[in-house]
Amino acid sequence: MKRSWEGVVLKVMGAKDFTLEVTGREEISPDFLRIHVTDGGLLIDSEPHPTMWIRLWFDDAGKGHQRAYTLVNPDARAGTFSMDFAMHDGIAADWARTVQPGATIDATVQGSAFDFPPAPRHLWVVGDPASIPAINSLLDARPASGVTAPATLWLEYQHDADPSLEVRTSGADVVSWVPRKGDGASLVAEVCSALTHDKVSLEDDFFWIACEASSTRAIVKHLRKVLGVDKRRIDALGYWRA
Ligand SMILES: Cc1cc2nc3c(=O)[nH]c(=O)nc-3n(C[C@H](O)[C@H](O)[C@H](O)COP(=O)(O)OP(=O)(O)OC[C@H]3O[C@@H](n4cnc5c(N)ncnc54)[C@H](O)[C@@H]3O)c2cc1C
Repeated sequence: MKRSWEGVVLKVMGAKDFTLEVTGREEISPDFLRIHVTDGGLLIDSEPHPTMWIRLWFDDAGKGHQRAYTLVNPDARAGTFSMDFAMHDGIAADWARTVQPGATIDATVQGSAFDFPPAPRHLWVVGDPASIPAINSLLDARPASGVTAPATLWLEYQHDADPSLEVRTSGADVVSWVPRKGDGASLVAEVCSALTHDKVSLEDDFFWIACEASSTRAIVKHLRKVLGVDKRRIDALGYWRA
């Protein structure tokens, strides 16, 4: 497959390439599919970490397009992991909808990293089905990372079945599902009105934001400009673009 210039740049940056082989497909909900793969040596070579994502290369008329997906249940010893695909119309989603066991896909590892800040008091998390795999890995990683902070989560949804997706909360964690309205304006309004000076600790809290790109930007702007949160306490990335 002919890759775009991005593939060349990634190679220069030391990115590593692997070939994954599909071993199965599972319907978690009508709009959320899980694809199981063998890892082509990826997990032995790249230490898995919470929220770890890879760049998958999808072929469109002989041209490669990269899309980011998060590792689910990585098992380095078995050399396997899965990936969850939130459904919409797109090259990556269409691939997941129809792919059969035995199919292969190229993957590049470059740019994924994650660390909790030291001893956060509270985790404030904003996402949607595309970032649920990352959010679950983040929630699961708390005990091993020595993090005891409870999490407050807002998850935007577009499909009726989305709120039934597993979110691996525990203890005092709280989840609010927010229907996507006004091109994301409802989510931004709900999150920003809840995150006020009297609710958050600028010194001790951690903010993890991964939803649609313009909503992510609006929430980060609120955190930085209105509340004055230090950028080292924010981990934010637009996961998709409307
Ligand atoms: C670090 C990182 C990790 C990610 N991990 C995952 C993951 O584990 N699972 C996952 O499902 N996604 C994940 N994403 C998001 C995924 O990469 C994007 O949704 C991507 O755009 C999908 O590509 P596509 O070819 O299917 O659609 P595109 O060709 O990019 O877009 C086609 C159309 O679909 C719309 N669209 C794209 N994505 C979404 C969406 N999520 N919801 C609603 N509409 C959408 C676009 O607005 C556009 O109209 C991740 C993104 C990042 C940055």
